[in-house]
Amino acid sequence: MTTPQGNPYAQQPYPNPYAQQSQPNAYAQQGGHPQAGGYPQGAGTFLVCRFCGGAPAVDVTFRAHRGLLVLMTFRKLEGPMCRSCGMRVHKQLTTETLWQGWWSPLSLVLFTPLTLLWNVIASAKVKKLQAPGPAGY
Ligand SMILES: [Zn+2]
Repeated sequence: MTTPQGNPYAQQPYPNPYAQQSQPNAYAQQGGHPQAGGYPQGAGTFLVCRFCGGAPAVDVTFRAHRGLLVLMTFRKLEGPMCRSCGMRVHKQLTTETLWQGWWSPLSLVLFTPLTLLWNVIASAKVKKLQAPGPAGY
């Protein structure tokens, strides 16, 4: 058995075998962040309303409090909201709190005033927005 190859190692010793593997920007094409694309909210600059999809929207939390003698419940609605939806949620939860928030002593002096104050502060954030337009505006 004679192998007809003249010099079998002629093909293997490349001058620099890692030249093709160690490209300086091998990872540059992957972006580094797997979810960099397709997640526009990552930057935090562009939010759309969670209810109607309108923009601009602001990340805000509204709260409602219900104080009964033995049972107190806290409810909150959070997420990016546009101006009109934010004001609607503000009105809804504040009305709910005004109706149901005064029926325990602790609620009367503490939780309900704080909840109402919180909603006023949150609604101020929403009021600063422009009226909503279609998404991508
Ligand atoms: Zn909206």
